[in-house]
Amino acid sequence: MPDQATADPAAAPENTGPENTAPENTAPENPAPGNSAPGFAAPDFADQEIAAVEIVGVRTVDLAPEPAWPGADAADLAGLVTELIGDQAGAWDLDGHIPREIVRELGRAGVLCAQAPAAHGGLGLSNVDAGELTAHVGALCSSTRSLMTSQGMAAWTVERFGDDAQRAEYLGRLTAGETAGVAFSEPGAGSDLSGMATRIETEGDSVVVTGQKVWVTGAAYADLLVVFGRVGEGAGAVLVPTDAPGVTVTRVPDPLGCRAAGHADVLLDGVRLPADHVLAGAGLPLEWLVTSALTYGRLSVAWGCVGILRGCLAETTRHARTRQQFGRPLADHQLVARHLAELHVAERAATALCAEAARGRDAGGPEHVSAAVTAKHFAAGAAVRGAASAVQVLASAGARDGHPVARAHRDAKLMEIIEGSTEIGQLLLADHALAVWS
Ligand SMILES: Cc1cc2nc3c(=O)[nH]c(=O)nc-3n(C[C@H](O)[C@H](O)[C@H](O)COP(=O)(O)OP(=O)(O)OC[C@H]3O[C@@H](n4cnc5c(N)ncnc54)[C@H](O)[C@@H]3O)c2cc1C
Repeated sequence: MPDQATADPAAAPENTGPENTAPENTAPENPAPGNSAPGFAAPDFADQEIAAVEIVGVRTVDLAPEPAWPGADAADLAGLVTELIGDQAGAWDLDGHIPREIVRELGRAGVLCAQAPAAHGGLGLSNVDAGELTAHVGALCSSTRSLMTSQGMAAWTVERFGDDAQRAEYLGRLTAGETAGVAFSEPGAGSDLSGMATRIETEGDSVVVTGQKVWVTGAAYADLLVVFGRVGEGAGAVLVPTDAPGVTVTRVPDPLGCRAAGHADVLLDGVRLPADHVLAGAGLPLEWLVTSALTYGRLSVAWGCVGILRGCLAETTRHARTRQQFGRPLADHQLVARHLAELHVAERAATALCAEAARGRDAGGPEHVSAAVTAKHFAAGAAVRGAASAVQVLASAGARDGHPVARAHRDAKLMEIIEGSTEIGQLLLADHALAVWS
């Protein structure tokens, strides 16, 4: 049997309360990486239960499950989201923009960072409730879900690594309608974030930020960016207003998917800010900071993939019931029915993995770190395969830009790249399997 009792150093940054973010309180004996690759040793998820990948006892009930909203807040928010997004996601995708007033309204309603604590104006949703809300948004519009993931990651980073004053200031702003993106990636630092070169340097009462970030989701809408960079021998995160002198935000032209998510490259040309814009956790190892933010992001993306699968199920089942070929509905052709069955199983299995990771995160145990990698890895692959199946079932009816399954097909592919690519996820999970089972 695997040793389930071994401590999980990768989870340490997640398990240390915000009040314990000083380096001396949080330094692990074996600091573990985030976006692991050459340059970062893979994290040791020794305490993770590998049973998370065994989908045991999931009943298959119907082909269009209604989410069971455990909390009234989440159900209300889901209704608001449905109303605000309506049937506009396809048009936003083609246009490459979500109307700013919609983004603001979602922000003010608390949808974009629904887990932010009530003490700072947030809704304080549990991971489970926030996850179902994320899936709901993901089923309607992956671009909007992308903004949720980014804003949630930004809020979590402030909550996790900020001090009391920073939490009050920035969480207050993010729950009042301002929007934020999170900037790790650079031209020379993708999977291997140890190549990060952005510098965050204190000069008297100021801090100067110099570097180049790429593909920052939501940056085109953002009031604030949480920018990760080098602080002395360690790393840190700094809150950079997008209108600060020296900040240039340039949209990524024509992204493959999530086209309205406002991806942008960001040039930081000696951006001078008050020193209190640097989050208090500065100086920690880079891998600690990014692991913490990425764990949030991975679970959020995984729920977004559940949403993609649900959207595809809705489209394919409706089409397969109504479209007739060879004298009967497509659903009566067994090879078409197989697509529906596989989609259904994918959605149920991805939901089960996400729920397990969310429950683990709510419980605060170390297992949620690897559970989030597992959920994201499975859900992203399932969304890619599921969306391809959906296009196959719709065939010519879905084979045009603007159709929900065509959009799902493009959006899903990106889920295999972000928050740690499929290959990086595999490296992390293989390492975890070795630690637990060998
Ligand atoms: C839609 C989208 C949204 C994004 N949003 C953000 C954001 O909000 N903030 C942000 O900071 N960044 C963001 N990114 C950047 C994203 O994090 C990176 O694209 C991702 O980390 C991969 O880096 P890369 O593109 O440089 O690929 P590379 O690191 O160059 O990798 C290229 C390929 O090689 C593989 N590879 C690399 N190393 C290994 C290895 N050791 N073993 C096996 N295979 C390997 C990868 O899996 C990939 O298939 C976004 C990207 C996209 C596409």
